[in-house]
Amino acid sequence: MVSQAMKNLGTARSVIRELFEYGNQRAAVVGRENVYDFSLGNPSVAPPPVVNETAIRLLQEPNSPIHAYTSAPGDYAARQRFADSLNRRFQGNYKPEQLYLTVGAAASLCCCFHALSCPGDEIIVFAPYFPEYSVFIAGAGAKMVVIPPEMEHFQIDFDAFEQALTPNTKGVVINSPNNPSGVVYSLETLQKLAGILKEKAAQYGHPIYLISDEPYREIVFSGFQVPWVPHLYEDTIVCYSYSKSLSLPGERLGYVLVPDQVTDSADVYAAIAGAGRCLGYVNAPSLFQQVTSLCCEETSDLAFYERNANILVPALREMGYHVPQPGGAFYLFPRSLEPDDLAFSERAKKDFDLLLVPGTGFGAPGHVRLAFCVDTGMIERSLPKFKALAESYR
Ligand code: PLP
Repeated sequence: MVSQAMKNLGTARSVIRELFEYGNQRAAVVGRENVYDFSLGNPSVAPPPVVNETAIRLLQEPNSPIHAYTSAPGDYAARQRFADSLNRRFQGNYKPEQLYLTVGAAASLCCCFHALSCPGDEIIVFAPYFPEYSVFIAGAGAKMVVIPPEMEHFQIDFDAFEQALTPNTKGVVINSPNNPSGVVYSLETLQKLAGILKEKAAQYGHPIYLISDEPYREIVFSGFQVPWVPHLYEDTIVCYSYSKSLSLPGERLGYVLVPDQVTDSADVYAAIAGAGRCLGYVNAPSLFQQVTSLCCEETSDLAFYERNANILVPALREMGYHVPQPGGAFYLFPRSLEPDDLAFSERAKKDFDLLLVPGTGFGAPGHVRLAFCVDTGMIERSLPKFKALAESYR
């Protein structure tokens, strides 16, 4: 007898994985160059050379403790470098004691949800959202409350948001730049969000924590800015990761930042450390604590993603697709050309070898997600297929 809930999770279909596997099988039949796989959000640009150089140098140091356990929140010197970098970039006064290093943003989020959730608590997320939120929040024993999307620009539907807030609201999750829409929340959106949260927290007599999930923070396109959320709302906890900015998703390195300004910050930090312990994380990977902290002022060639967006967005719009303007990350979230996004994705796959992820899994039916962290040549080759797909609906 095993836990049914865990078995269900372990055996659940992953639409994204299935599309990816289908793409591999199809490539064996029609050739890799004839399959247009926009399914997976795996960064396609290489890490900057300094990452490998640093790793090699560290590995070659004699008698180094690089393979040893570190302290649970992470090596102090590594956390100091991250704090210094944040202070330089965001004019903060962050200290190593406010940083808890994790195995990526996924673990940062899990630690936060476990740390904050008491029986009956609710965590609000905005659709479209990263589907794993539902798993992480349920795993922490809280209830996830979804705010339906604001369909035109994928900013926030504030009426729906205000109605969803209750005295049980413990946290609100934002993700900007966003997976799956690529949308960046404007300063006005964030200020309005902060204003409502302050008002409601005062009314309920307890803090409402804003969990800012920002693994795409540095992937920002010309004309857009990603404001530093702790400057706008005091009870902000930042979840970050080097998976995307340094193209290191497999190395699993991120952090939670709990600034001193956060209500009960010492308790929140301690509970995050307790959650990491309870989840068996022990410590973030030692080698990459050092590598990422020594390279944290660098990024991969992130302009690559904007170049891809600049090819795809105008071309798709020209063909008649409705495409919300991405301000960052490497995703597009166009409307499907029929209300049933699953049927649309199936037609794109079966008739045109275009692998697009249905929006239903992101809480926004009627859309599909394209991950454009792919070879630019593939994007160019895919355009006639997108055109034929659009024409098939005329
Ligand atoms: N949050 C969002 C919005 C993501 O898109 C991802 C990964 O794609 C994660 C969190 C998890 O990132 P990590 O690889 O750092 O665990």
